[in-house]
Amino acid sequence: MREHLPFRAFVGLGSNLGDRVGYLSLARQGLEEHPLIAIKRTSSIYESEPVGYLEQDWFLNQVVEIATSLQPSELLAVMQGIENRLGRKRKIRWGPRVIDLDLLLFEDLVISTPELTIPHPRMYERSFVLIPLCEIAPDFLHPDGMNTRTHLQRHLETRGGERIRLYQG
Ligand code: ADP
Ligand code: MG
Repeated sequence: MREHLPFRAFVGLGSNLGDRVGYLSLARQGLEEHPLIAIKRTSSIYESEPVGYLEQDWFLNQVVEIATSLQPSELLAVMQGIENRLGRKRKIRWGPRVIDLDLLLFEDLVISTPELTIPHPRMYERSFVLIPLCEIAPDFLHPDGMNTRTHLQRHLETRGGERIRLYQG
């Protein structure tokens, strides 16, 4: 069934409303249930303070590595289907949400369309993306030729003031 899933991609998961651990788990399940997607690696869960819109609870964040034979736009559609199924309401940009799935990286592709930008446009400014990504894929080469470890180091040297901790449950 899953013999030929040639592409490697990374998906960021986030939740800050309701049963946050449960929503992360349902999102992983949604990805795994798709016949053309397999989860290869799963980072620890991290808890991070909100950015952008501050009047909301802390987020839980996690990054998963998947193998897939879907094209990037098809994968995004599957991810948005999971968001919708889990009841995400789009109200405030960067505001509270039960679940957020972001397509961070897809092979070494660079895509820039109105619907889809890869690498995810804000991932290099976000400790809650780079730290879990570095946990599972420190040596993965990004489209600019630098690996995750180097991206994380640069981020921590220049910004990286956001509060983030391992989530212990
Ligand atoms: P954020 O994840 O930055 O908080 P949203 O999830 O509300 O923002 O944004 C969703 C929109 O972003 C969607 O309409 C989607 O088409 C667009 N988008 C562009 N690039 C990506 C990407 N790499 N991953 C997920 N959504 C993306
Ligand atoms: Mg999103």
